[in-house]
Amino acid sequence: MTAESFTVIGNWKMYKTSRQATDYIEALLPLIENTKVNVYLAVPYTSIHSAAQVAKETPLQIGAQNMNDAREGAFTGEIAGLMLKEAGASFVLLGHSERRHVFKEGDELIHKKVIRALQDDIQPVLCIGETLAHHGKGKTQEVIQEQLSTALQGIPKEEASKVVIAYEPVWAIGSGQTPTVEQIQKTHAFIRAVLGELFGERVGKKIPILYGGSVKPENVFEIASAKDVNGVLVGGASLDPQTFASIIQNIVGGASKKRVTRKKKEKTT
Ligand code: PEP
Repeated sequence: MTAESFTVIGNWKMYKTSRQATDYIEALLPLIENTKVNVYLAVPYTSIHSAAQVAKETPLQIGAQNMNDAREGAFTGEIAGLMLKEAGASFVLLGHSERRHVFKEGDELIHKKVIRALQDDIQPVLCIGETLAHHGKGKTQEVIQEQLSTALQGIPKEEASKVVIAYEPVWAIGSGQTPTVEQIQKTHAFIRAVLGELFGERVGKKIPILYGGSVKPENVFEIASAKDVNGVLVGGASLDPQTFASIIQNIVGGASKKRVTRKKKEKTT
């Protein structure tokens, strides 16, 4: 895994007005000018258009945090993928833990949203992860298997390769707690194996798997060094451009370390 294939996604949740969004991006862009990491920002709906304008002709991708599963219709207060796309969104977070737990979205609905996003040509970032109770009972893999196989059922291989997975243990989101790097790697390897079962090894290897949950400038280097971590999804720490830029810079450190370690291994084998 090289820096070029690392992805960092900021999730602003329900923070920042449109004006605050453009100020933020203007502050962020010079700080990440030389990065090779893919940088995405999931902003509130009202900021998508203005954020995408400021990010135009820069490598920064702007996306949304949710969408409806219908193409259009009488769904007061909802938003369609085509509307997001036209406003400037290139990706959408689906099944974020706050959507699942606060807004009671289930795997079947999330599956319909993934299908719709692919049809509307918006890259779906499918968020999965176990609760603390499931974690405590040793059911992480069972939960993840169910979330993945339901949300991705019936998707053809060539479409599946457009999906990004974000593994976010619910208990790690906004809590300051993170699993150990060994636990993260074990779960990411499991996700990779499930993707391989669903879509074949070649596609399974291609799908990026991001880690999310209390990622900060201080811990990102270590997390990014795990073999099957292809990027990170950052909530709270993405709200300040300096902090978010530090995370991006430190990811490159992790990716470079991985490259060096691999080269050393190649020499000794
Ligand atoms: C998130 O909201 O997806 C998230 C990972 O939040 P935080 O980084 O604040 O834990």
